[in-house]
Amino acid sequence: MEVIVAEKCGFCHGVKNAISTAEKILTQEDEVYSLGPIIHNKDVVERLAKAGLKTVNDVEEVQSGTVLIRSHGAAPVQMARLKEKGVNIVDATCILVKRVQHIAGEFEKDGYKVVIIGDENHPEVQAVVGFTKDAVVIADESDLHKLPENAKLGIVCQTTESPDHFGRMLGAIGGGRFREMKVINTLCVEAIKRQQSAVELCKEVDIMFVLGGLESANTRRLADLCKEENSETYHLQNWNGLDKRTLFGKKIAGVTAGASTPEWIIAEFVENLEAFEES
Ligand code: SF4
Repeated sequence: MEVIVAEKCGFCHGVKNAISTAEKILTQEDEVYSLGPIIHNKDVVERLAKAGLKTVNDVEEVQSGTVLIRSHGAAPVQMARLKEKGVNIVDATCILVKRVQHIAGEFEKDGYKVVIIGDENHPEVQAVVGFTKDAVVIADESDLHKLPENAKLGIVCQTTESPDHFGRMLGAIGGGRFREMKVINTLCVEAIKRQQSAVELCKEVDIMFVLGGLESANTRRLADLCKEENSETYHLQNWNGLDKRTLFGKKIAGVTAGASTPEWIIAEFVENLEAFEES
């Protein structure tokens, strides 16, 4: 089967930094924790767990050793608690996520009601909320009722949202009764490049594969965008998740991957796909 890989796909600099930082600490120390899964990719989490990285979901689970803050960041209250406990903290928060945290805090200091366009259950968004007293998170138009009327809004966006969704939400907010809207674009350029190159590719192929963690926000966003253009789009964790029957009758396949998908998952998938023959 002919396979075309998206020009931009796979690990972003934020994820690369978190992983290489974890690998480095694991060679130096015995007791290393990650606050939440280091990235939303089971294969990578399992590999690092074998190397000794322990994942905890609550700061109270850590009493000693070193805690790695993943690229999604952590809330100030969590950082303060870790400092109180006297554990060693290694902060691998992506610089673009740090920027959102900083902007949200500044908006609030300047008297704006902070609005985050994104998923309230996503760790990046939860950490950003933690930099404010009472930010409002809105996922889509159905959440607009959460915004207080006549307020001065300071708006940011989860880094991995699509520009289309960000723009649509700003338009929808603009239709409401607010005194002021101050917007800072906090979308991640790396995520946008992956989205653009995936959408271009999926229009040219018979079947499109989006590789990466099923709970990874940026990978899910890629899959949603591709599905809008090509109904034969499949979001898979890796080659083992493929139902070969979906390949029957297809000649050209496209492959992309989220920012948290390692190169070896992509390479293995492409190699197997190229070798596939309908029997
Ligand atoms: S997707 Fe963008 S914001 Fe998120 S970790 Fe990667 S570079 Fe940072």
